[in-house]
Amino acid sequence: MASVERSEEQKKKVVVIGGGVGGSFLAYNIQHCADVVLIDQKEYFEVPWANLRSMVDPSFAARSVINHIDYLTKVKVIVSSAVNITENEVLTADGQTFAYDYLVVATGHEESVPKTRKERLSWYQSEFEKISSANSVLIVGGGPTGVELASEIAYDFPNKKVKLVHRGPRLLEYISTRASQKAIEWLTSKKVEVILDQSINLKSMQDGAIQTSDGETIHADCHFICTGKPMGSSWLRSTVLKDRMDICGRLMVDENLRVRGFKKVFAIGDITDINELKVGYLVQKHAIMTAKNLKMLMMGRNEIFIIFRNNEKRTLTILHLLSPSLSFSSSFSAYSSEKSKEDSLKGFHNGFK
Ligand SMILES: Cc1cc2nc3c(=O)[nH]c(=O)nc-3n(C[C@H](O)[C@H](O)[C@H](O)COP(=O)(O)OP(=O)(O)OC[C@H]3O[C@@H](n4cnc5c(N)ncnc54)[C@H](O)[C@@H]3O)c2cc1C
Repeated sequence: MASVERSEEQKKKVVVIGGGVGGSFLAYNIQHCADVVLIDQKEYFEVPWANLRSMVDPSFAARSVINHIDYLTKVKVIVSSAVNITENEVLTADGQTFAYDYLVVATGHEESVPKTRKERLSWYQSEFEKISSANSVLIVGGGPTGVELASEIAYDFPNKKVKLVHRGPRLLEYISTRASQKAIEWLTSKKVEVILDQSINLKSMQDGAIQTSDGETIHADCHFICTGKPMGSSWLRSTVLKDRMDICGRLMVDENLRVRGFKKVFAIGDITDINELKVGYLVQKHAIMTAKNLKMLMMGRNEIFIIFRNNEKRTLTILHLLSPSLSFSSSFSAYSSEKSKEDSLKGFHNGFK
């Protein structure tokens, strides 16, 4: 694609809301050809698939939590929450207003995390200490996060009693039964006790004892809730985009990832209503395609757009690249644990070079 590097006065204003996988990649890709503002609730980008490894090995967090200003050298980074969007401006919780020519919403899933990198690293250290000092650990939720956390703990701390409780009939329910089977076999081989078809009433927790829906009492020194997170879109309900959300709170987008009915507003990542797995490597695709489309728009090519097509198979090939439990999926058999974690992290850093 032709270069669209422009002089400061010619540059269009692009506001990106959300500094996760999608927003950070996009801002990075357009920072030289637009006047970019990134609004994020926190001052850093974090590789999400390093999260759970960082809980058992905090040294991992030091490399996977990166301040935005360290790689977004040309971007104005605003550490605040976006609270409103009008036809041409974004308003933040700290009272600032940012005009835009183009807007990209990338607020993914809602999660309350510390604002500064320093606080985030201390959080990982304290989670690590919580796990290392416990004899027994309860994990609630048998989706990718719960399964991965259980496997990280079982791998690094083979002597701890780990229980994983899941309300459904099988782990990793939204992928193949074969993957569920492999996951349960791997976890059981590492002495993780997997309890299916039961839920947990967290309010019943007393002195480390907790009740399952079947009335069983589980004793655990610490517990982790790994159930689904809501969309990061509740704040959009009082903005101009309020009528462009589906029943699940996702933004409805067209084939160019523009919010339906809005020519200058794009949405990328987990917040979109595209029917696909909500995974980082697809989000990166959204970001790269939207960066190309924005560059074309900024060159004045109004109607020539790259269309988003997802031909990926619904597998977890990339999910849990960092997990030591890689062997539970045949897709993962090529990886040796420590090396693959390092390679995956390096791969992500290379994306920002
Ligand atoms: C533990 C875990 C492991 C994962 N493992 C993998 C994996 O191995 N492979 C894979 O491909 N995918 C994986 N995923 C999924 C992948 O991380 C997500 O699909 C991806 O992060 C979504 O990117 P996003 O940019 O849409 O949203 P997010 O990465 O969730 O980023 C959203 C950003 O928006 C910010 N934000 C939210 N609301 C506001 C607001 N009002 N104002 C300003 N900022 C706001 C948040 O602070 C955050 O920075 C994993 C996810 C998790 C949680």
